Amino acid sequence: MATQAYRDWVKAGRPWKKATPIDELDKLARRHGVQVLGTIGNEDHLTAAKPEDHTPFSTTAWPVPLPGYIVTAIDISNEHNLGVRLLSDARAGRIPWVKYLNFNGQHYDVLQDWKPRPNPDQHVHISIRSDWCTRSIGNYDPFTGGSGGGSQPGAHTVVAWDRANVRDAPRVSGNVVSYVEAGNSYPASCWTRGDTVNAEGRTNDIWIKLPLKAGGFGYVTAIYLKGDEYADLPTSASC
Ligand SMILES: [Zn+2]
Repeated sequence: MATQAYRDWVKAGRPWKKATPIDELDKLARRHGVQVLGTIGNEDHLTAAKPEDHTPFSTTAWPVPLPGYIVTAIDISNEHNLGVRLLSDARAGRIPWVKYLNFNGQHYDVLQDWKPRPNPDQHVHISIRSDWCTRSIGNYDPFTGGSGGGSQPGAHTVVAWDRANVRDAPRVSGNVVSYVEAGNSYPASCWTRGDTVNAEGRTNDIWIKLPLKAGGFGYVTAIYLKGDEYADLPTSASC
């Protein structure tokens, strides 16, 4: 049963914007090639009897009423250990704008001292405090400098010994988005396991994540890069 708040919002022409931290997290995730699953919810969310933070009229806004039609939640794919990183930063007081986090089937709320409670979300759901709607998260970036610091864009360098395709996923069926050329060096973010590639007398399932000049990221099999099976990236530099 849709709420009066929903009907008022429809009458107003369905206006909404993202809270500043949500907009900033959205842009950071995209810049790092991490999938954003959503901000404003679908019609099921919007017409719920108890609209929550994926709507611009959340009934769970805290600690003040929403200062306008503002969405205060975002869902992001749980890559780069994102959920664990956010939770440890929240518990340490480094990100006071977080109201609660859901990931890996658990809910962690500032009002419950970040203690885990069961929740269906597997992806990372971030809800922010309503008094941070128009405040910036500053230079905080949960996609860099995480465990081992290996996921920073261009934190490492790889050298190609042959021309090879760069694909949009660590899979041989991924779309070709760029290429590396023999003898050239490239900034690299991290390594990940993907499709096993058999070529040039080698077998390897390690793919190297490269920031692309055009923005975003691509993956190249380590077979065509100089060095060991990790293209000489530290083993700690996993994506
Ligand atoms: Zn969510």
